[in-house]
Amino acid sequence: MYIDTHCHLQKEFYYDIEKVINENLRNQVQKIVVSGCSKQEIIEVLQYALEYDSVFLTLGFHPDSCEVVNDQDLAWLKDLIIKNRKVVGIGEIGLDYHYGKDNRNLQIELFKKQLKIAEELNLPVVIHSRDAVKDTIEILKQYKIKRGIIHCFSGSLEVAQQYIKMGYYLGIGGVVTFKNSRLTDVLTKLSLENIVLETDSPYLTPEPFRGTINSSKYVPIIAKKLSEIYNVPVDKVGAVTFKNASNIFHI
Ligand SMILES: [Zn+2]
Repeated sequence: MYIDTHCHLQKEFYYDIEKVINENLRNQVQKIVVSGCSKQEIIEVLQYALEYDSVFLTLGFHPDSCEVVNDQDLAWLKDLIIKNRKVVGIGEIGLDYHYGKDNRNLQIELFKKQLKIAEELNLPVVIHSRDAVKDTIEILKQYKIKRGIIHCFSGSLEVAQQYIKMGYYLGIGGVVTFKNSRLTDVLTKLSLENIVLETDSPYLTPEPFRGTINSSKYVPIIAKKLSEIYNVPVDKVGAVTFKNASNIFHI
């Protein structure tokens, strides 16, 4: 059994949501944690969480929206999180300097405000950090967040160890199946106890399906790759990562 700790489930990508859910279940992906990270997405995914038992949510504003989100939106977010029992965390939130740092200060401000909400509500966070390791670590250290995931982790061993020491798990997805992935080498020096599985679907489809739309049903492919890296049965990868994800989200 598996948990996909990070995916995007929207009509924009999938014609038939129910079909996606059923395919997940047939592939032993028992629970999925769907990320809603804009106002429109949040409204849509709340509906799926009500409709399907296997759908849980993390809600939060992506750094991309730092120029449009205001304090009123954050109050709306906080209220929704408090009122909906299937919201199990805040995310994806964080910093993205990949396309430049022009709005860096706004990103930092939005990130901090949402970390504050996570701290107040004692909820785990799902962190998006791209080309921004130093600031991410420095800011995370300022908050008493007890649990969290570094989504789509792709850094060095040293960075991985820093996050782990701070209590974070590493979200590992399709990238680990790509040819010549640096990640393999880093992972061999870490323990499965620090890892959770994710797809980030519809993006980052694992091999051999790269180039087509990703889905949570492919989580077992990522698990299989990890079973090769750690030289353990795939069921063990499933069991350990399932337990890790349950510990983080209490699901
Ligand atoms: Zn994502």
